[in-house]
Amino acid sequence: MEIKYFDNAATTKVKEEVLNEMLPYYSIQYGNPSSLYTIGRYTKRAIEKARKQVANLINCNSNEIYFTGSGTESDNTALKGIAYANKVKGNHIITSKIEHPAILNACKTLEKQGFKVSYINVDKDGIINIQELVNSITKDTILISVMFANNEIGTIEPIEKISAIAKKYNIIFHTDAVQAVGNVPIDVKSLGIDLLSLSGHKINGPKGVGALYVKTGINFDRIMDGGGQEKKKRSGTENVAGIVGLGKAAEISQKNMQKHINKLLDLREYFIKQIEEKIPEAKLNGSRKGRLPGNTNFSFKNIDGQTLLLKLDEKGICVSSGSACSAGNSNPSHVLVAIGASKEWAKGTIRVTFGEENTKEEIDYLVENIISNIKV
Ligand code: PLP
Repeated sequence: MEIKYFDNAATTKVKEEVLNEMLPYYSIQYGNPSSLYTIGRYTKRAIEKARKQVANLINCNSNEIYFTGSGTESDNTALKGIAYANKVKGNHIITSKIEHPAILNACKTLEKQGFKVSYINVDKDGIINIQELVNSITKDTILISVMFANNEIGTIEPIEKISAIAKKYNIIFHTDAVQAVGNVPIDVKSLGIDLLSLSGHKINGPKGVGALYVKTGINFDRIMDGGGQEKKKRSGTENVAGIVGLGKAAEISQKNMQKHINKLLDLREYFIKQIEEKIPEAKLNGSRKGRLPGNTNFSFKNIDGQTLLLKLDEKGICVSSGSACSAGNSNPSHVLVAIGASKEWAKGTIRVTFGEENTKEEIDYLVENIISNIKV
């Protein structure tokens, strides 16, 4: 059966050009980048090229990019690294209620270690309450971490406003941009971002590789001890092929950004229009316009999202019920709870996220199959 894949927020397919760029680093170019002989220097150069490609995508300098093993690791390094390096200044962190578990669980760990965390509410569209954020700032606040765009409902947060507030109060600002990178143009300089997390597998690159941007002058503690790779900030022999793949994916993403966004917007609007016409009581969660170009998240009445997901799977269709990270968990999604969805509506939710390879014919097939599983 041919697969119709609509879960690009969970992961994306590695582009052929990306894979081709990676393959030599699993075979002929296997040198350890820390080795001084020729094949070691060669892989070291490949890493530095990738660093430049990633830096170009978000408009920073190469030496501000640290490679990690995932978006999750980037988030943990940002939160714990900044918290530990600044604990003499204060012990208070501000974040939102709709962050990814990589942030929320890192915050829980920090709370156990004596840090205080404020979790800011969002409105019905998922946009952070700016006034509440300002009100929660204390003399001990050392870090604000708010995601660029939400992984479940796609809402894009007012990053420029948040960074301006952070700057005004001399607080470090981190954003988890794992979902936004490649789908929204990001210029860390003009947006005033101090730290930013990204991940390879969300931008048609490989899994198991991520990057953390840290603005020059901002100190952070390492969370991994070892041989001192990545300027002593992230030890562990580099995942060279993965890093090369992330670099290539970043380069392609930068080059094709507007085309990619336009394609996804077209597919998203086509899908939303069909669902709204054919299932009038369906609810679109998240902001109608201020959302990721490829994201939709619908709640349906009197259905179970996970059952619908499995029914669609029988037809070769991949969607997510809420977020992949909470799949298998029967509690309502913390994001849907935060935007005020009732337990009943939250239960009937599926996330459909588009990629460049999707077509309108595939969407017709998806809609047909959603309708046949829902009593309209
Ligand atoms: N942050 C967000 C917003 C995400 O959507 C994800 C993955 O779904 C992550 C962090 C974690 O990234 P990774 O899968 O690379 O660990």
